[in-house]
Amino acid sequence: MSDTLRSVGEAMISLRGVTKAYRRGRDTVPVLKGVDLVVQRGEFVALMGPSGSGKTTLLNLMGGLDGPGAGELVVSGLHLERLSPAELSRWRAAHVGFVFQAYNLLESATAWRNVELPLLLTRLSARERARHVETALGLVGLQERARHRPLELSGGQQQRVAIARALVADAPLLLCDEPTGDLDRETGDQVLSLLQQLQREQGKTIVMVTHDPLAAAFADRTVRLDKGVIVSGAEPTAPATLRMAASRPVSAPRLAVGG
Ligand code: ADP
Ligand code: MG
Repeated sequence: MSDTLRSVGEAMISLRGVTKAYRRGRDTVPVLKGVDLVVQRGEFVALMGPSGSGKTTLLNLMGGLDGPGAGELVVSGLHLERLSPAELSRWRAAHVGFVFQAYNLLESATAWRNVELPLLLTRLSARERARHVETALGLVGLQERARHRPLELSGGQQQRVAIARALVADAPLLLCDEPTGDLDRETGDQVLSLLQQLQREQGKTIVMVTHDPLAAAFADRTVRLDKGVIVSGAEPTAPATLRMAASRPVSAPRLAVGG
């Protein structure tokens, strides 16, 4: 194992002075201007801010989809800013599940195949992949829909397939970019309850971008970004371990979502 793959620190996410700029023609446009942020293991954080404030850019950096300009970006104990692109994509496959607003499902493939997709990049056997897919579809309450294609499913069901795909590798960190943006209130609330259950019963760490204060209310904490800097909520309010112990149900970790 190379030096850059050795774990440091306790928090799930720890950012120090993170910057990011994009090139636009001859200009360099600063998007993140020195972000400091800590997210504990097992926390559910809502990330809010005006359109264009850098929320998606920040989420992509946390998930290793892109590299920062400057600063420290430690996620699950690793300095992501020190990893090579190949190390980064290997790390991402095991550590991060992404959920997007627009689901990003393959229309020609069944729910089962869509969920299995990230596992095709791993060394798991077909039998092991099947076991993971069944577990993930079970967690979102969609086993009965496994053979349906996305267009045969409702919007809420499609987003649950996308969540199952994010869960299938059992990654500890879920990054969700406006996951309820395209859903009506009732369906959106089902998806938010599901995310909350995944935090409480599976111990997932969740960072969710949202515009909606009612969606943010499902999280433990709201972080506010404005013009590329964090204006409130940068630090956890209580140790996540205490909060998790208080909220952990006695029953077995089994999720059930209606609809
Ligand atoms: P948010 O998600 O808060 O709406 P984004 O992170 O998507 O904000 O974008 C922040 C700013 O960075 C915007 O001005 C956007 O136009 C710009 N931007 C985002 N991605 C790119 C890119 N790949 N190339 C150039 N500019 C970008
Ligand atoms: Mg965005």
